[in-house]
Parts: sequence; structure tokens; C-alpha cells
Amino acid sequence: MNIETKCLHSGYVPGNGEPRQLPVYQSTTFKYATSDEMGKLFDLEANGYFYTRLQNPTNDAVAAKIAELEGGVAGMLTSSGQAANFFALFNICEAGSHIVASSSIYGGTFNLLGVTMKKMGIDCTFVDQDLPEEELAKFFKPNTRAVFGETITNPTVSVLDIEKFARLAHSHGVPLIVDNTFATPINCQPIKWGADIVTHSTTKYMDGHAVGVGGAIVDSGNFDWMQYADKFPGLTTPDDSYHGIVYAERFGKLAYITKATAQLMRDLGSIQSPQNAFYLMNGLESLHLRMERHCENALTIAKFLSENEKVAWVAYPDLEGDRYNSFAKKYLPKGSCGVLAFGIKGGREKSIKFMDSLKLAAIATHVADAKTCLLHPASHTHRQMTEKQLLEAGVAPDLIRLSVGLESVEDLLDDLRQALDKI
Ligand SMILES: *Cc1c(COP(=O)(O)O)cnc(C)c1O
Repeated sequence: MNIETKCLHSGYVPGNGEPRQLPVYQSTTFKYATSDEMGKLFDLEANGYFYTRLQNPTNDAVAAKIAELEGGVAGMLTSSGQAANFFALFNICEAGSHIVASSSIYGGTFNLLGVTMKKMGIDCTFVDQDLPEEELAKFFKPNTRAVFGETITNPTVSVLDIEKFARLAHSHGVPLIVDNTFATPINCQPIKWGADIVTHSTTKYMDGHAVGVGGAIVDSGNFDWMQYADKFPGLTTPDDSYHGIVYAERFGKLAYITKATAQLMRDLGSIQSPQNAFYLMNGLESLHLRMERHCENALTIAKFLSENEKVAWVAYPDLEGDRYNSFAKKYLPKGSCGVLAFGIKGGREKSIKFMDSLKLAAIATHVADAKTCLLHPASHTHRQMTEKQLLEAGVAPDLIRLSVGLESVEDLLDDLRQALDKI
């Protein structure tokens, strides 16, 4: 099936007389006839549902669809994108581990890695993702366990050279984890370019309508944990909490997701509610159509802004002449996403005046949904960062992040025009 068809048909295939649309299994628990049957589930000896914190049929169908869209072998849903990135890393890291991550990543992930995981004894080196390979190689340490980046960074819309990052990770015997939230699998499938694990904030384009916070993790099944057994004891040595199961031996290509579900979800419990998974399933059905329009509208607006004399700069990877245009052509041939960044001449003050003058585009702490919204990271999402950290993350003080929605592009242009006229 082509990806457009997968959006509609993957993950849930009803049998004869069954509901055409995925049912919401709004049940915490599942019933068994004998104690022995249930016991086998607890020992991971049989497959089945017993408690929604571990697995739920609605969530599993949606995770399976996302895994198919990304070209992975297995997936799981989490309560948020934050939980997805935390689980993806914590599944293979522990106190004493080290992570190499791009410094341009989403502010929430920057805090997760730089502050909260640090308290757990997991260290992170933030790197300029545009440095040449040999420069980046210098940041690896014997205890490095993962490399992390975003296909298109939030909010600077920089495009990651996924192949370069995959080569670096693999030559150091660790997996590459890519947060593919902004591109979605419609526009880029990082696994094809060498990423081992893909994460999502499904809150964004996948849901697409700003109704449910959620996350997802997809594993390619390609990373050979056993080859680097000493680095990943959680996958390659017995898990005492499951009678000594060795995930990589017992579950092969499914080891990573099985461990994340059976162990991390069991103990940390950040599940997506089945109701939210249902909304997500509906969003995914039109993802291919929406992404196309988001990109079309965003490119029109990026061109308009770049030609306006009151605009200091525009960053949008699909724009000819953009710093990341060549990577966009390679990794995102169908278009990048609906998000763009720009600055107004006159700096911070003028930018804020412009934003407050908009009528259709709303100021919202959100991005990547159907309705156009915008935000000023230095005063909103990234306000915990120092000036130095802001500059390292490439977030200029005047940067406005515009998330272009699905409205008529003419109406959006009119709104931008009248707000620009007011400054
Ligand atoms: C929003 C976002 C997150 C965090 O996701 P939540 O669902 O808000 O927890 C992570 N990564 C990226 C790229 C995001 O845009």
C-alpha cells in the first residue's frame, strides 16, 4: 500500500460484521477464565491484554498504524511527546550513561535532557548539528548510549542531516533516535535514512486538530543490541522483574518496544488514554492530505514574508536560498511542514506589536494543527533559557514561530498584511 492508503487502512483491519471504525476499548481491565491464562500474560509467555497501563487494543491499533507509516517493526503510544522522548532514551540509558543531542531541539526536550535526566545521572552533550562529522565525533564518550535529533527542529525549522547523524551514531555503536514530529512520516521517514528509533509528539500534525496530547515511539528493529551487549545491559542481560527474561534474546527485533512496554510502561505508567488514541486514529486518516496543504500554504506565506520590507528574515526549509534548502530537497522532497520562523525589523518590540495586531492567526502555545497560530519562543516556550542558551539553540530574540494552518491562504495573507501595516 502507498502511504496515503496506509493512513486509512493500516493498524486496524475489521473482520466480517465488525465496526468499520476503530472501537474505543474504554476498559481498564480484561477478563480471563483461568488463573493460569492470566499468569502466562504476566510472565510475557503469552500475548494478550490484561491491564490498560500495559496494553490496550485501541492504543495498539493506533501504534501499529504509526509504526507502518514510519516503516518500523513495532510502536507504542505514550501520554505525550515528552513521555515518548523520555521513554525512548530511558529504555537504553541509566545512571552513568551519556547522550549526544542536537542543541536545536524543542525547548521541552532540551529541559528534559539538560535538567531532569541529568538529575537521574544521565549526562547530555548538546551539539551544533551542522558541524562536520569529524567535529561531532569528538563529543562521543565511552559511556555514550544514544544520539538524538529532530528531523525539522522546533522552533528554528533547521533540517537534520539524518544520514550524517546515523553514521556518527553507528560508528560509535549506539542508535540514532529522531523526533519526527514536524515532518511526519508523510514527508520524511527517518528510518529509511538510517535512524533506528523514531519518536513523535502526536499532539501536533498527527492528531492535527489540537484535541489530545499524546506521543508515540517506533522502533525500526534494525539496531543489533547484542552486538553491543555491554552498552545495553537492560536489553541484553536478565530482567529480574520478569523471571530473568533477556529481551534481545527472547524478542529479537521486537525487544526494544517489548521492554519499553513491559518494563517502563508498567513502572512509570505514562499511557495515552484510549479515547485520545481514538481521536488520534481519526486524525491520521487525513494526515497525508493535511500535510500537503500545510506545506502549500506555508510556502506561499514564506515567500510573501521574505518579500516584505518590514520582515528582517524568514526561515523555511522549502524556500529557495534557505540555509537548509538542500537538506529539505533531499530528506523532504514532498515539502517540510507548515511551520516557519521569521523576525520583524526593529526586533523584539516590533515583533510583539505585530503579533498582537493579528486577527485570524492566534497567539497559542501550540503548533502544527489545523488553525493558524503563532508564538514568540523567547517570551513563551523558551523563556526558561538564558540569552546564551537561546543563541545556542538558534532562537533569536525576535524569532516568531508561525504555524500555518489549513485556512484559505488568501485570508491568512490579508491578516499578515494588515498586521504588518500597523508597525
Ligand atoms: C511538542 C513537541 C514535543 C513534546 O510533545 P508534547 O506532546 O507536548 O509532550 C516534543 N518534540 C517536538 C518536536 C515537539 O514539537
